Amino acid sequence: MRIASLGSGSRGNATLVQHENTTLLVDNGFSLKQFTQRLDRFEIEPGSIDAVLLTHEHGDHSGGIERLCRNHDIPLWTAVGTARAALAPHFQYHRLVAGHTVTIGGIEVMPITVPHDASEPLQFIFHQLDNGKRLGILTDTGHVTRHIIEAFSCLDALLLEFNYDPEMLESGPYPDMLKQRVGGNLGHLSNQQSIELLRQIDTARLNCLIAAHISEKNNAPVIVEQLIRQLDDLPAPVLANQNEGFDWISI
Ligand SMILES: [Zn+2]
Ligand SMILES: [Zn+2]
Repeated sequence: MRIASLGSGSRGNATLVQHENTTLLVDNGFSLKQFTQRLDRFEIEPGSIDAVLLTHEHGDHSGGIERLCRNHDIPLWTAVGTARAALAPHFQYHRLVAGHTVTIGGIEVMPITVPHDASEPLQFIFHQLDNGKRLGILTDTGHVTRHIIEAFSCLDALLLEFNYDPEMLESGPYPDMLKQRVGGNLGHLSNQQSIELLRQIDTARLNCLIAAHISEKNNAPVIVEQLIRQLDDLPAPVLANQNEGFDWISI
């Protein structure tokens, strides 16, 4: 299995997960033109994507979903609440239910409920069926729950949100309402919350750690990197960024 990102952050997210002939896309917050340009460097045709998984309705994840799926006839999988909030009324989709796996090609997908200010937000764990490797994606999460700690333990790879540095958020340019939203229980994970999650999950098998959805205004890659490097026994992190995401990483 391998993972790549077309871009990560509040101006658009799209993540590829691939195993042999199966290509999955998690979210698309980019216009069709932007998406196609960004996809080009991975030498994938949009029409060869087997399924799009939509985590929640916020525009940085859902903004380009309908046009992409319609223009290239790609099946969409999402929760009922997300579909109601994000899609046109009669847009066809396959229903995801938290805690119930679906198998697409050689990859089993487990949707996980997370606390976020959206209708029915999900994040995902991908299980490569032929060798047991497990990859987790966790962004847009307001706080760490018991359920998240259990679900995201014993992974081989983890893409984890490091959204904001609390001091930078506090003194940064966001209006107070938005500061409270981002830093609240249904907002995003701070650097410290994500570090705390890494301390609480079993990371014995973890050989790939990707820091993602890093705020360009309320965080700095160098802070994230320093914090992660202070933890023992963790791989050096890959930092996803807004403009370029990151290239294929094999798991
Ligand atoms: Zn987001
Ligand atoms: Zn969100």
